[in-house]
Amino acid sequence: MIYFDHAATSPIFPEALEEFERVNREAFGNAGSSHAYGRKANRLLEECRHDMLVDLGLSGTHDLLFTSGATEANNEALKSVALLYQNRGKKIISSEAEHSSVYSTLVQLRDFFGFEVVFLPANKDGAIDVEALKKEADKNTILVSVMAVNNETGALSPIGKIASYLKGFPKCFFHVDATQAVGKVSMNYDGIDLLTASAHKFGGPKGAGFLAYKKAIRFLPLLSGGDQENGFRAGTENVPSIAAMRVALHLSLAKQKDHFNQAKRIRDEIHSYCLSRPDLFIQNSPDSAIPFIYNFSLVQHKGSVILEALSQKGIYVTSFSACNRKKDVASRVLLSMGFDEERSKNSLRLSFGEENTMEEAKTFERELDAILQEVRTR
Ligand code: PMP
Repeated sequence: MIYFDHAATSPIFPEALEEFERVNREAFGNAGSSHAYGRKANRLLEECRHDMLVDLGLSGTHDLLFTSGATEANNEALKSVALLYQNRGKKIISSEAEHSSVYSTLVQLRDFFGFEVVFLPANKDGAIDVEALKKEADKNTILVSVMAVNNETGALSPIGKIASYLKGFPKCFFHVDATQAVGKVSMNYDGIDLLTASAHKFGGPKGAGFLAYKKAIRFLPLLSGGDQENGFRAGTENVPSIAAMRVALHLSLAKQKDHFNQAKRIRDEIHSYCLSRPDLFIQNSPDSAIPFIYNFSLVQHKGSVILEALSQKGIYVTSFSACNRKKDVASRVLLSMGFDEERSKNSLRLSFGEENTMEEAKTFERELDAILQEVRTR
């Protein structure tokens, strides 16, 4: 098989899987139990929290809330800040290109809780425009939420510029969904109040993620019950997955540069191929995106048909986002970038990981050539 769908999920690193198994065997106690075996699990949990903050460069300023993934972390961050700090103002600024776990949460805050939510459009490269954000930010703004890397196009957001601009708004929180950035690209987290990610995107297990937050911030638990996670998230802590996440984070950061260069070679090869075919349309300039994600539209074919034909040959890509299971729906992100319905419906997203090779890129090109010739044009 050729697996080009790492933005949906990546294989777990063997070292992380080993750690998951080891902790399940050797430290399976409940981290809340007061006996020595429970305390052992709790010590491990706190070591993970400490080490991950150090690896992220956030120790001292931030704390870490462990969650089931980025969807939960995004919900927790946005709902908590909006609901607990609404006495400061009720305006929230975000973008039309956000992942649905941010976008739908903000729609909920707008439609059910009366917040004023401004969704800025993406520019032609898929990122938000800082100048547009500057026009919207005012003293009523309590929250700005912008993703670091777009999950459909790989577009890099100007996080540093937004963070430094928001320093002029001390009552406003800055949330960054870094799910597609952690372990992929170096980032400066200075000025970020809330940062979210999911372990399975950087070589960790599914079912673990985190919300890193500036120490003074308080949360309204999405899950009520016990006093785990500083009282912010009830439920027995998933220590084996968290321990495996710690290993994956450390490894993905250590290998980041090599992975980046390898993905760039593969992406550049596929980009040259796409440029050579008049029936493929490239959405955004590769220079504005990380090399792990590449997105193009089929000008004369249905995206879902080509995706299935590739799948039958053991080549796995995505139409635009695995979180969107309905076929033939236009991508909100591509529409926001100014593309028409047809183009936004018929896109394919390729996303690369460490096991992908140049040979796989060439095989993909040959197979796509054959499929495009075989499949009836619409
Ligand atoms: N944010 C972004 C940018 C993502 O790509 C994803 C996963 N597609 C999520 C949030 C949600 O992650 P999870 O499904 O692991 O909760």
